[in-house]
Amino acid sequence: MAQEIMQVSPLPPFMMKALQEADYIVHDHTHIKDPGALSKVTALIGTGAAKVDKKLLTMLPNVKLVAICGVGYDGVDVTACKDKGIVVTHTPGVLTDDVADLAMGLVLSIGRRIPQVDKFVRNGDWVDDEFPLVTTVSGARMGIVGMGRIGRSIAKRAAAFDMRISYTCRDPKADLSYAFHKTATQLAAQVDYLVVAVPGGDDTKNMIGASVLQALGNRGYLINVARGSVVDQPVLVQALKDKAIAGAALDVFWDEPIIDPELRRLPNVVLTPHIASATIETRSAMAALTMENLQAFYERKPLPSPVPECSA
Ligand code: NAP
Repeated sequence: MAQEIMQVSPLPPFMMKALQEADYIVHDHTHIKDPGALSKVTALIGTGAAKVDKKLLTMLPNVKLVAICGVGYDGVDVTACKDKGIVVTHTPGVLTDDVADLAMGLVLSIGRRIPQVDKFVRNGDWVDDEFPLVTTVSGARMGIVGMGRIGRSIAKRAAAFDMRISYTCRDPKADLSYAFHKTATQLAAQVDYLVVAVPGGDDTKNMIGASVLQALGNRGYLINVARGSVVDQPVLVQALKDKAIAGAALDVFWDEPIIDPELRRLPNVVLTPHIASATIETRSAMAALTMENLQAFYERKPLPSPVPECSA
């Protein structure tokens, strides 16, 4: 019998294709035509942008799995899920390299002003002018906020650029020789590039605020590949306008895909549309792992990648 599941965010076409090929009946929570279908749904599926709250769960009495195609699941109320005996899965590991690649690309892009010089050449400005000198990235000091899978992978890349690495997270890592700082503010005071790679959610909301940006200072750059919520965005925009920091490179934003027009107008930023994991290889691997979680759930086998809160 075909299993009935519900998508709780837009899904990429190849994820939909895999679901259809595996014979799942996929309902869309924004277009429920048959209210009776709600009780037939036994699993939810969505990307890292999915919002799964108590209200939604109350409408779906038979859901027992939330399968997130992404490593971040800050939109899912995991406590409410656990209270209802619902397991949450995600896709850790398979996207780590791509996200770290983009983080390093953003460091180079903002440090060497690559998008800005591209525009300079395209506009024909080179004929009459020279682009202002920038500062060297190799050998600069990088601070990483969140030394998990992605943070470690960024550090590996930065080490190849002879960058001097330090970090902050909840607990210092015994296997790492990089300097540990207890707070993001202490870390920011010591670095040229501050790269954010922590999960979103209440614990990290606005973690990068005025004191961190002040400590980073007017020669420092902020790079965010984590979640928009981690950075106090109005405070960041003001710091960029005041040149209180040198620049920012951001893959994630408040209210994305709507971007603050002030941020879009600033010359000292590089902006990418939440694409850190957006390669064919990685998105396919994420979809495959999500499918494995679904299949294991329906076959009553151990789930390949439950979120830490739902791990035994
Ligand atoms: P991870 O392995 O779980 O690492 C998370 C790190 O953040 C850990 O070092 C953890 O500290 C630290 N951390 C968690 N809460 C913290 C807090 N309150 N204060 C300080 N540090 C804290 O996760 P990951 O696989 O590296 O992924 C990290 C995040 O990247 C994801 O959750 C997601 O939001 C984001 N992401 C974004 C994209 C994108 O497209 N831009 C793609 C993938 C992932 P401990 O080690 O001490 O526990």
